[in-house]
Amino acid sequence: MKKLTKTTAILLISAMLLGMAACGKETETTKKKKKKTKKTTTEATETTDEPTDVPTVDPTTDTSADPTDDTSGTPAPTSNGNGGLLIDVPEEYCEIAFPTDERFFYTMDLTLDAEARTIGGHVDFEFFNTSDEEWDQLCLRDYPSLFIDGKNIGKPNASDMGGALTEIKNITDSRDGSTIEYTRDDDVSVVWIPLSTKLAPGEKMTLSYDFVSTIPTIADRYGVKDEVFNVANFYPILAVYTEEGWSHEAYYNVGECFFSELSDYDVTLSVPENYTVLSTGVTLSEDADGERKICKLDGQCVRDFVFCASPNFKLIEGEYDGVHINVVYDEAHPATSKMDECEEACLKAAQDSLACLGAALGKYPYPEIDVVLAPIDAGGMEYPNLVIITVDSLYCAKGDPNFPYSMISGVIAHEIGHQWFMGIVGSNSGLEPWLDESFASYTEIIYAEYMGNDDEIVYYSRDLLDLADKNIVQALLSVDEVPINRPHYAFSNDDAYVTAAYFIGKMALYQMEEILGTKEFQGILREYVRRNAFTNSTEARFFETVYDCAGTDNEDLNNLISGVFQK
Ligand SMILES: [Zn+2]
Repeated sequence: MKKLTKTTAILLISAMLLGMAACGKETETTKKKKKKTKKTTTEATETTDEPTDVPTVDPTTDTSADPTDDTSGTPAPTSNGNGGLLIDVPEEYCEIAFPTDERFFYTMDLTLDAEARTIGGHVDFEFFNTSDEEWDQLCLRDYPSLFIDGKNIGKPNASDMGGALTEIKNITDSRDGSTIEYTRDDDVSVVWIPLSTKLAPGEKMTLSYDFVSTIPTIADRYGVKDEVFNVANFYPILAVYTEEGWSHEAYYNVGECFFSELSDYDVTLSVPENYTVLSTGVTLSEDADGERKICKLDGQCVRDFVFCASPNFKLIEGEYDGVHINVVYDEAHPATSKMDECEEACLKAAQDSLACLGAALGKYPYPEIDVVLAPIDAGGMEYPNLVIITVDSLYCAKGDPNFPYSMISGVIAHEIGHQWFMGIVGSNSGLEPWLDESFASYTEIIYAEYMGNDDEIVYYSRDLLDLADKNIVQALLSVDEVPINRPHYAFSNDDAYVTAAYFIGKMALYQMEEILGTKEFQGILREYVRRNAFTNSTEARFFETVYDCAGTDNEDLNNLISGVFQK
């Protein structure tokens, strides 16, 4: 997700500049220091001194499945063009292959009733017990039900959005045909399905159910405004079973709580005949059926399924190295008079993002990416194979003549960056939000550098703080935003969370790049992606990759990690 408006970003950066002033730093000084740090870093890596700080994250504490198991089918690294790294890492623009393991499978027959503002239908969900324990109940997440009350979604003033509890019925267990009654927690998005017959480790079953979710009249990642339907997180989806049991983090408007398993989707979607639909996966066919249109949609190796639909979408199409790209905006409600030009700029930003992020992180492995310019109160929101980008007039403004549309392009890079960090490499965005937000924010820097956009605001941020400087680290330790590797609820407020997960996290990753070198750090990221592609990762796995590649005796790196992350 990209929650920042330009105003917010400037305020946050101003706040950081104030913090810098308190530390006696100025930008020019920092720039000079940065160069010096690079030199010092080189010297430091050539010494055998013990690190002054113990690495803050112990990779051995992660007891989950061995991430080095190469279950993805991705070829092992063969390149040795990795500078000073201790192990070989994948080459730039390496292939990321889909795994061959069995995975969950949702078959959904859905109808969008535009007048009634509902989405619903029948679901057959085939899955298996992923754990070593018997399951006597299942946990589904039903996010649409939260929209009965604005307070549930962090919008206390949104009282008239017309939300409703999701109807869920005819729940059956394929193993015995039994019909199941569900219960809800006080958090109405948490739905419990008791199993009369326990599900053994590895055992398969099919859960079938009918549901109807109401779509609120709100400019949101789930909502309808001006006949643009953003239909995300809309069906009851199985939660992830972890070592602590079923994960069901609280919903956050500023940030995410979404966490699910890799699945395939076979979706039949009925919409009004004049609607254009963009979705996760690809469209296999569209057939007229009276006043309706029947779309056959297919999503593979994704963690969720979403779609956006409107009678007023203007579509342009493009491609990058075999990846089909769709971009739409609402022609009936243009944010600016130059929306056609903006739309073209968004297509180019998507192509450039696939190019530079593919080089840095591994080639985008899906056949399609959709960029939907739609009403949403955030700057943007990421979903598998589809990103929603705000059509706010500020974001769509042409801006700097040297880098026109740089703001909306930067948001597109961020959200497409999430295709790697959230999509390909999954994580618990509620408990470890930095693990996708800081990484997606860092991809903004990759994009800005690729575009030569030195004036881009995201580019400036890298010079604000030298996080490898111990004095700065000590100063950061006294502020609320550090350490950054905490759940959303552990920060004092939304601003602190945003500063930590987006800005400090981005700068911390950039500083790792500064310390280790661009080629080396991005090689480490490709290795992290290779090891964890199509699994749910943890920060322990990330640091394990960093230490495996860069060693544990880099003093600048250890200072940075000790300062920004909690033990
Ligand atoms: Zn994000």
